[in-house]
Amino acid sequence: MLSTLEQQLDGFTGPIITPDSPDYDAAARTPLASSSPALVLRPRDVADAQRAVRAAAASGLPVAVRGGGHSFAALGTVDDGVVIDLGALSSVEVLDGGRVRVGGGATWGEVVRALAPHGLAISSGDTASVGVGGLTLSGGIGWMVRAHGLTLDRLVAAEVVTAAGEVLTASSTSHPDLFWALRGGGGGVGVVTAFELQAAELTTVTFGTLTFPAAEAAQVVGGWAAHLRTAPRELTSAVRLANPFAGGPDAPVEVTVCAIGEDAASLVAPLRGLGTLQSDTVAVQAYGDILEEGHVLPAGLRLAVRNGLVPPESADAAVAEVVAIAAEPQPTAIVLNSLGGALADVGADETAFAHRRAELMLSTFAGGPAPAFDGILAGVESVWARLTPHVDGAYANFLDGSSPEVQASARPEATRRRLEQVRASYDPAALFARRSAN
Ligand SMILES: Cc1cc2nc3c(=O)[nH]c(=O)nc-3n(C[C@H](O)[C@H](O)[C@H](O)COP(=O)(O)OP(=O)(O)OC[C@H]3O[C@@H](n4cnc5c(N)ncnc54)[C@H](O)[C@@H]3O)c2cc1C
Repeated sequence: MLSTLEQQLDGFTGPIITPDSPDYDAAARTPLASSSPALVLRPRDVADAQRAVRAAAASGLPVAVRGGGHSFAALGTVDDGVVIDLGALSSVEVLDGGRVRVGGGATWGEVVRALAPHGLAISSGDTASVGVGGLTLSGGIGWMVRAHGLTLDRLVAAEVVTAAGEVLTASSTSHPDLFWALRGGGGGVGVVTAFELQAAELTTVTFGTLTFPAAEAAQVVGGWAAHLRTAPRELTSAVRLANPFAGGPDAPVEVTVCAIGEDAASLVAPLRGLGTLQSDTVAVQAYGDILEEGHVLPAGLRLAVRNGLVPPESADAAVAEVVAIAAEPQPTAIVLNSLGGALADVGADETAFAHRRAELMLSTFAGGPAPAFDGILAGVESVWARLTPHVDGAYANFLDGSSPEVQASARPEATRRRLEQVRASYDPAALFARRSAN
């Protein structure tokens, strides 16, 4: 199979990395996962991406498409298969009217650096090394999600290499079914070689973290949720508590805020009075400076990442349960992200991200060395036995891939069925079956 594949690669101009190549080990792993692919192909342009897709299809081997490689479920790599690594397609071009054409393998750090001189920004995630590809294809919950919506709501067109190796443009007027699937389907319909996104005029944000004592979690988190429920959409915020690496039940409650617009300071001000303020780093900053650098997970460590979306009617009960769990010894850090605002401006069936009513996203992050991991997982399961009654659906990008049932909850039945139809027409042989939650 491998020799067929190599023959098919005639004319491929980018690096072809095999287990014998000196850079194989680095190419085989992603920041969060090790693996042993048969081949890693790094297309230099669209024609290379077409050759890579055709060759991979002819080989019969499993295929993984890698954007920034940050999937918690290790979807950007595959054992004994072909990885199409888009890292070299990282150009960022500013077009007319604030439209931006971004290569399919660019990272958000590259986008932010290119847009800053133009006074433009796109609401992405919180981390510079995360890929535009995976984040956009499943959603994109960033520091301006309440003001600007999901990152995928800013997608206006995409250049896609299909499983047949054809190049298509997907937009509201060209292959609209494919365009729908690209906005929330998590990939699995082709290789996106370029995303065209609408940026917003934005240079600075009011950003930082307020910390409060763990003992005040009930009033702080309850007050935070109540404030965000009615706050203008220019304010987006997240609360982190129970961080096991900062004391677990004694860890401070961290309220991170990002506000934009003329009234940014006054949107944040009430949050300082939620409890006994222990520290305050909120300041006006360049948007490009607030993204964190990602980390490579040290070998031998494993991560359990799970989330649920909380509808408005369950928000108070969810907050109360989170506060109760956070006060007990257990293995997860818990994060609550405020949603609503522009996220809810889009109808549930307009894109393949259907969970538009969500008021909060509730995520848990636990990690530990492999020998202790089963115990950690059992603790995470106990936490979710208590949280599950308060959530309706999940966000595909904060799932570690360990539970098919939770994966399935990322998309409602009607969305899944429609996605299957689109996939059947653009990828009938399921070449791109390695993709984010169905
Ligand atoms: C440290 C960290 C911080 C994060 N912060 C946020 C955050 O603030 N907000 C948020 O919404 N998410 C966040 N995420 C989650 C992130 O959105 C997902 O992990 C996402 O899948 C990463 O995309 P990637 O391209 O880097 O990953 P990859 O592993 O390369 O890809 C993920 C999936 O997308 C597919 N894919 C990627 N690019 C393409 C492409 N061009 N064409 C076709 N398919 C493609 C892959 O095949 C794979 O199925 C974070 C993740 C990490 C690790």
